[in-house]
Amino acid sequence: MERTFIILKPDCMEKKLAGTVLSRFEKAGLKIVACKMQQLTDSLLREHYSHLTDKPFFGFLCDYMKKMPVIMAILEGEDAIAKVRELLGPTKSADAPAGTIRGDYGDKSIVTFNVCHASDSPESAAAEIKRFFANNEIF
Ligand code: UDP
Ligand code: MG
Repeated sequence: MERTFIILKPDCMEKKLAGTVLSRFEKAGLKIVACKMQQLTDSLLREHYSHLTDKPFFGFLCDYMKKMPVIMAILEGEDAIAKVRELLGPTKSADAPAGTIRGDYGDKSIVTFNVCHASDSPESAAAEIKRFFANNEIF
């Protein structure tokens, strides 16, 4: 059993796709063990996207990620980290095949608006779960 961390990003919230996206994860056998709604801040985003702070799109990404409350969750299941990344598809929605979450719902022209974040490794999953959830919020 493995746990991974997801964020339903502002474009997902705006398009009212939260239920649809969570349902894809549940149908794939993943279980929601934590879930909350929160508006992200610059300081959280600087930590969360620390690998991107020197990129030209970093300011645009942060402005977008903090513009409205998002849903964050922890999903549990066998091979959860790889499984959720596979369900999402690649970062660029334009490159994501139909049937993946980003392929079906992401913005094909603006890379930033790609519906959902998911941890990309056991190390990032552990760090992200710790960053965004207290132990007593995980069930
Ligand atoms: N992003 C962007 N432009 C790019 C690459 C990434 O706006 O050229 C955004 C996009 O929202 C992506 C996020 O930055 O999901 C984090 O980038 P990362 O490379 O970690 O991709 P992910 O792990 O989300 O697939
Ligand atoms: Mg990433």
